Amino acid sequence: MAGLDGLSINLATVREQFGLPQAVEACRRLGISAIAPWRDQVAKVGLAEAARIVRDNGMRVTDLCRGGMFPAATAQGRQAAIDDNRRAIDEAAALSADALVLVCGGLPDRSRDIADARKMVRDGIAAILPYAKAAGIPLAIEPLHPMYAADRACVNTLEQALDLCDELGEGVGVAIDTYHVWWDPKLHAQIARARGRILAHHICDWLVPTKHLLLDRGMMGDGVIDFRPIRRAIEAAGYHGPQAVEILSEAWWQRPGEEVLRLCVERYNSLCRLDGANE
Ligand code: ZN
Repeated sequence: MAGLDGLSINLATVREQFGLPQAVEACRRLGISAIAPWRDQVAKVGLAEAARIVRDNGMRVTDLCRGGMFPAATAQGRQAAIDDNRRAIDEAAALSADALVLVCGGLPDRSRDIADARKMVRDGIAAILPYAKAAGIPLAIEPLHPMYAADRACVNTLEQALDLCDELGEGVGVAIDTYHVWWDPKLHAQIARARGRILAHHICDWLVPTKHLLLDRGMMGDGVIDFRPIRRAIEAAGYHGPQAVEILSEAWWQRPGEEVLRLCVERYNSLCRLDGANE
């Protein structure tokens, strides 16, 4: 890929510095032509206006974050989640997103039954799948690091996500985020198994020590993840879409947005891309 076609910016990375219009502008100035916005960032400017900004600036939307959060203690709660996921699919379609990312959800209130939560996830995805297919929006199950199993996602490995894909069939794939899967001894075997079902590739680093469970993700190169071998495996499995930098970090949110984006480009070039001068 020439230039920065292989780089996308998940807009959570600069969520405290920029709204969607400013983020798109800053990306453009740096030659970045792909983004992954969050739904609240889209809602803030309005869906129609967000779609216009994306279109007028020739931006590719690699994925919309996020749907999911299926488990709930009551049938009413589970239905509300399904309804909300349908709205997320509509938004992804309006933005011509490559995929809707699913952060599947953890345990329902006061539950200790993770097996049941996982069933609720499967049933939830099955319930929205026909709607997603009709809208032409692939659903990307994102396995999250096991430390989030209780409160954010009870789908915790790529293997588990692919088992779900096998069960649910066409229209469902995976988002592979280095932060969540780098430690997995089965990672490379499962990436190979994911051929044809990889819908997104997220990058950020695992810091040592990690000071906050959610908001201390690292800039590539500042932690312990070796990015190129993972990318090589992903490309070998047939996925050549952009790598989306997704850094949720109190520390980076305090730095000027332009500086953060410039560093994303620099680290992507020097540590992540496979056609870079430094490979
Ligand atoms: Zn991610």
